[in-house]
Amino acid sequence: MGHPSDNIITDAIVIGSGFAGAILARKLAKQGRSVIVIESRERLGGRTNTIRLGDHDIDAGCSFIHGYSDSHPLATLSKELAVDVQIAGPKESTDVGSVIIGKRGPLDTGLQKQIQDALGKAVDTAKASNENRPLADVIDASLNETLQGETLAIAKEYVGSLDAPLGLPVNEITDVSRFGWEKGLDGVDAVVTRGYSHLMSRIWEDALATDKVRIYYDHRVVSLSTKDKVKSIISTHRGQFEAKVVVCTVPLATLQNPKTAIEFHPELSKEKQEAIKSTPVGLLEKLIYTYDDYWWRSSYKTGGFAILPTKKSFTSAKEILESHVLNVQTFPNHPSLLIFLPAGAIRLLKCYSRQEVEEAGAEVLAERLGGVKARKAYSTSWLKEQDTNGATSTYASPEHLKALQQATDDDRLAFAGEHTEIDNHGSVNGAVLSGLREAERVERYLQKRASEPWTGH
Ligand SMILES: Cc1cc2nc3c(=O)[nH]c(=O)nc-3n(C[C@H](O)[C@H](O)[C@H](O)COP(=O)(O)OP(=O)(O)OC[C@H]3O[C@@H](n4cnc5c(N)ncnc54)[C@H](O)[C@@H]3O)c2cc1C
Repeated sequence: MGHPSDNIITDAIVIGSGFAGAILARKLAKQGRSVIVIESRERLGGRTNTIRLGDHDIDAGCSFIHGYSDSHPLATLSKELAVDVQIAGPKESTDVGSVIIGKRGPLDTGLQKQIQDALGKAVDTAKASNENRPLADVIDASLNETLQGETLAIAKEYVGSLDAPLGLPVNEITDVSRFGWEKGLDGVDAVVTRGYSHLMSRIWEDALATDKVRIYYDHRVVSLSTKDKVKSIISTHRGQFEAKVVVCTVPLATLQNPKTAIEFHPELSKEKQEAIKSTPVGLLEKLIYTYDDYWWRSSYKTGGFAILPTKKSFTSAKEILESHVLNVQTFPNHPSLLIFLPAGAIRLLKCYSRQEVEEAGAEVLAERLGGVKARKAYSTSWLKEQDTNGATSTYASPEHLKALQQATDDDRLAFAGEHTEIDNHGSVNGAVLSGLREAERVERYLQKRASEPWTGH
């Protein structure tokens, strides 16, 4: 049964050690399958990276578990691995949502609520729209119906607060019928108490405890061949590996970039090549600051800030920040502030050093929130890192996501990762679900291969 040499060939190669790779490798190893993990970085986790800044653990990549409930796949996993998860969001009944910081300081609470409600309604209208119209037009029309005068003008600036979560400037979303059709998991936002990397480390420890997993760090996959019918062959910049089946979890932007793309032999289907080329990858970076004390707590109880622009043109990193809406997160347990940099600012800041950007952000926060300069700062560079090349897939079409998810006809090369999940792309949920999905496919393939008589070709 099966090929005579099957008992010495590794069962599966997993390319990439982010959530998709971790969930997949652990599941296969627990089922008794031998797994080789090939990772281009010198650390595990991909877009999961909790950093230590001052005395605090802060997530520089993913931070929220979206749609968390008892039936969420990470709820079961975190219980199994004894990892604490807590519900995110305001803790006290007096806490409000984001405080909008206008040109003359924080908006009055009533005005703020009016603007936030109007934008919420505009987004709901856009999500329900099937017309092929730009998102900005639909939002504009809805705001025009609800608000007037100065309130309307402020609301139109506040629309820029959608840029960071979208990964793209709102005015680049040209077909609203593709906006917000996904069905995410049903639940609330939560966080891993000690940071997402803590959960990631526990998944890998558990996988390695099976003795079925070998990890190769600092190996960048450059080509992959499934031409040989017995084994798939992976070449990295430092060596070669073989297995019965391969799952590629490398980020979409890495596959898109000619400098980091993997050569596939035989070529991928035309449909898949088109989906790789046409699915947008958004941008998101974090600017993180820690302080000696909660200086903003005395003036506002808050779930964060949205700092509106004061400039229309720019000649410095600080002015670039001042010409965009900055979504700022606060933390319940420590005096830190985190700016989610939107795509428009990230593109313009590309030519500035990390130190210049960190300095500019610290000044903007101190000036606009009326506080002190930070004690420590950290900025991410997901766009510049060639193992990621951006944040996540965004504004994708279901057809393209279906093609990105497709394995080769013989199931010997499969794909996982956030960009391959139709209803949950762009999130940890997508990566986790894709890992579970592909573990099933690999298991089915291996069982079929073992039960079929070897025909010699
Ligand atoms: C700033 C930021 C904030 C985010 N916030 C959230 C959030 O709050 N909640 C949420 O749900 N999601 C969030 N996300 C998205 C989330 O981080 C990702 O969707 C998820 O981590 C992706 O997991 P993955 O396994 O698909 O990819 P990755 O984690 O990127 O894993 C892919 C792995 O492949 C490796 N690799 C790349 N090229 C090669 C190669 N050629 N050879 C070998 N290995 C290679 C990479 O080094 C990496 O380890 C955020 C993302 C960013 C950037």
